Amino acid sequence: MAKPMRMSLIDLGELTADHGFFFEGGGCATHSHPNPEHTLRRLKMYGVVIEHPKDGLIIYELGAAPNYEELWPQSVLEVFPVTRYTEENRVDTQLLKLGYELEDVSAIIIGHLHLDHAGGLEFFRGMDTPIYVHRDELMWAWYAVATKEDLGAYLPHYMDPAFNWKVIDQDEVEIWENIHLFLTPGHTKGLMAMQVDLHNSGSFLFTNDTCFLKENYRDEVAPGWLIRDMYEWRRSMRKLKDLEKSNDAHVLFGHDPDVYEQFAGKGILD
Ligand SMILES: [Zn+2]
Repeated sequence: MAKPMRMSLIDLGELTADHGFFFEGGGCATHSHPNPEHTLRRLKMYGVVIEHPKDGLIIYELGAAPNYEELWPQSVLEVFPVTRYTEENRVDTQLLKLGYELEDVSAIIIGHLHLDHAGGLEFFRGMDTPIYVHRDELMWAWYAVATKEDLGAYLPHYMDPAFNWKVIDQDEVEIWENIHLFLTPGHTKGLMAMQVDLHNSGSFLFTNDTCFLKENYRDEVAPGWLIRDMYEWRRSMRKLKDLEKSNDAHVLFGHDPDVYEQFAGKGILD
């Protein structure tokens, strides 16, 4: 009998930022409350490691670069401080805990190429590991750094032809058996959500940064200053909710620390 597919969440550290980035109108001064409180939110960075029975070891999302302090602009470090990143949070350390090395990874999927998601590509520099990303994400990320119109969210370091880029053209694809990718723009042009269907534990839907935190999804609080296209975002939300419903999926968000803990605490899922 074939081995079951197994899935683990890996802990890639933590950021902190003003909630106005994540919730529309968060901290907005109003007539009755001219001096609102500004609150900071804790943001998880994590990856998903899938041991696929036929297609090897697959990682979705890589977190920040280990040398983020050198690579990130000072303004980003100030506004989005990395509040936890130790040896423990490196991609190589996290893989080792599962019994793997970087060389064992057969494919990488990047949901979107922002600096806190694609930074871990640094670990794979000089290797030939295929890196799957949506065509729209790759094109617009390159544009963002070339024109400097969205520099800071994207960094030029990862826009490197030396990586073995593989492009997803479709809006929806079952990239490998029981692993589906869905184009869900709004936060970025080419963001891809992922659905993983496990034999015993059921379906898991990773919204990526379409929803940073559970309030974006459950209460449909639109993203704040980080939104790029609100109409696309609404459309992507409807898509995600349809997927949740039709697959009775567990939903995990781009950076929600509580939801992350809830599932990471279960260990290896199959
Ligand atoms: Zn992002």
